[in-house]
Amino acid sequence: MAPIPGSGLAKGLAVTLRTMTKKSVTAQYPDVQPELPPRSRGVIGLFEENCTVCMLCARECPDWCIYIDSHKETVPPAAPGGRERSRNVLDRFAIDFSLCMYCGICIEVCPFDALFWSPEFEYAETDIRDLTHERDKLREWMWTVPAPPALDPGAEEPKELAAARKAAEKLAAQQTPPATTSHADEQARAAEQPTRPQGASRQQVDQPSPDEPSSRDEPSSPDEPSSPDEPGPGRPKPVQPEPNQPTPRQEGQE
Ligand code: SF4
Ligand code: SF4
Repeated sequence: MAPIPGSGLAKGLAVTLRTMTKKSVTAQYPDVQPELPPRSRGVIGLFEENCTVCMLCARECPDWCIYIDSHKETVPPAAPGGRERSRNVLDRFAIDFSLCMYCGICIEVCPFDALFWSPEFEYAETDIRDLTHERDKLREWMWTVPAPPALDPGAEEPKELAAARKAAEKLAAQQTPPATTSHADEQARAAEQPTRPQGASRQQVDQPSPDEPSSRDEPSSPDEPSSPDEPGPGRPKPVQPEPNQPTPRQEGQE
């Protein structure tokens, strides 16, 4: 069947009209920064405190673009009589991003969580040799790594966090001074002591009547042992003594 003359032109115009009504998807970079997903594979960051120079990442990298140098150091024993130990000290950690194919194998195999993906992507160079980045630059990129997503509700606490929390609690318990009686505690205890009843004047309480013996005005004689219930010098005096309670001798009383 022969094509209708002008049908091709009509199809083309239909496509043009359809796309004219759609919103433009052109990103005006670098004037407008693109909105990348937070887990974008932009560049690799190094947290060198976690790196033990085990060389696993360099060995597993399919492109052999990770360069690591290190030396051994002898660490003195932690306790007297202990054994000296040797550890690896990182001298150089570099990644050649002109060779890297962003497969992420190095990050996956690192057993000590020293490598992370950062969404940073603006590190283009005009010279390909400048795409080999050393540990200082990798460390700078580490601070652009987004925080890990929150745990599911009810999830088990990570082992690292549990160990750190226990160590902090133990340290705090060691640094806490022994419990002493504070001034506030003494004030609270004094407030619980018997006080002047309502309606009784200060004189009634502090200066008892002649019939009423006073243990504060006259100290008890050596041959009369003082009652254990007798109030001390700093404590308020009870309002009425118990009827059957032995009372100390009053001044002038025979
Ligand atoms: S992402 Fe892949 S290619 Fe790049 S350094 Fe890591 S292992 Fe090598
Ligand atoms: S695998 Fe991890 S710990 Fe081992 S050398 Fe690489 S970055 Fe360091």
